[in-house]
Amino acid sequence: MAEVVEKVYEQVVARNRGETEFHQAVREVLDSLAPVIAKHPHYADDALLERIVEPERQVIFRVPWVDDAGNVQVNRGFRIEFNSALGPYKGGLRFHPSVNAGIIKFLGFEQIFKNALTNQAIGGGKGGSDFDPHGRSDAEVMRFCQSFMTELSRHIGPSTDVPAGDIGVGGREIGFLFGQYKRLRNSYDAGVLTGKGLGWGGSLVRTEATGYGTVLFAQSMLATKGQSLEGKRVAVSGSGNVAIYAIEKAQQLGATPITFSDSSGYVVDEAGVDLDLLKQVKEVERGRVADYVSRRPGARLVTEGRVWDVPAEVALPCATQNELGGAGAATLLRNGCAVVAEGANMPSTPEAIEAFQAAGILYAPGKAANAGGVATSALEMEQNAGRTRWSFETAEAKLTGIMADIHDSCVAAAEEYGRPGDYVLGANAAGFTRVADVMIAHGIV
Ligand code: GLU
Repeated sequence: MAEVVEKVYEQVVARNRGETEFHQAVREVLDSLAPVIAKHPHYADDALLERIVEPERQVIFRVPWVDDAGNVQVNRGFRIEFNSALGPYKGGLRFHPSVNAGIIKFLGFEQIFKNALTNQAIGGGKGGSDFDPHGRSDAEVMRFCQSFMTELSRHIGPSTDVPAGDIGVGGREIGFLFGQYKRLRNSYDAGVLTGKGLGWGGSLVRTEATGYGTVLFAQSMLATKGQSLEGKRVAVSGSGNVAIYAIEKAQQLGATPITFSDSSGYVVDEAGVDLDLLKQVKEVERGRVADYVSRRPGARLVTEGRVWDVPAEVALPCATQNELGGAGAATLLRNGCAVVAEGANMPSTPEAIEAFQAAGILYAPGKAANAGGVATSALEMEQNAGRTRWSFETAEAKLTGIMADIHDSCVAAAEEYGRPGDYVLGANAAGFTRVADVMIAHGIV
């Protein structure tokens, strides 16, 4: 790494002690920026790099609520408003016991560049809580969301900060959060949250967008080699919203997804995933992957090892950060995997990324491949602002166009900085330069 970016990285580590995921996300971006700064040294002027790694604002708050047994529970809430150069802070809320300041900071940092890649007017932010919705009743989830929003409402707004979903936050949670926001403000500000229900300001295709976009990105990468997804075996991890709609789009494009997973293990279904059953188990029943296996002859649940042990030509990590390590990458490569597109945020460890790049396979980082979700959130904001609703076809055509543009921007930037085919460099350089140019225009703020 060039000296200037090394210094910035050391400051980040010193100032954000123990926040290893944030260090990892910053390191990856700064590594990519060395050739950009070498070619355009003005990007290191006026402490621009020091400013871009420091959140504009961080809010940490107490979230007290009463469970069904009458006990008072206390969780911690976060909203990290990282960068507003391009538009209102934009990014999801994650409810998961692993959430802490470092996790939200890494996600918010990634979001800056991802959102820039979409070429829409959205800045970067992220939030969440260490609250675990699993095993909680709807009433408990509602009371938690109401308490969380009571504080969060002071910090957000359609032109200020627009949260959405992420792990543990889906349509149900967005509904409770929106209801409380509307009640507190006495104002129907549909554009304050995205991922809303279709009857109250939500956009068609938002539910599908992250998974669909990830597969469209994989298809674009394959097209650069004159290939397609048709007939390919696909290993998918996760079984949430991203995984389900990645499986759906992969099937539509003629591929055969054969796996999915949750924290209890992974499922292999050699005949191809039965999507209706998977949706019934996960979306309707909020069940576990074992509930799929018990109703699907031929499918098996594996509780040892990783989904990456299953031979597949395409891998779509759609679960969570650092789920695909050096060993998983080595197994995938040994079994002939030639395409990896990340539906999750930072699912591959640095060792895994290095292995993919050394092998010269097609590898797309999440900030490019999974940007379809937030891009469609921006389309939802656009419809809310115009008090209009688009058809599924209109929204999907826009998503398809945006994913193609992101792909082409990554390819062009990788070429410009001398590493053709390097989607990590391409995504980071293209995202960074868009944000940095605007930060320079806005002066030292
Ligand atoms: N949580 C999603 C992401 O990681 C979506 C954010 C949004 O729609 O604002 O990009």
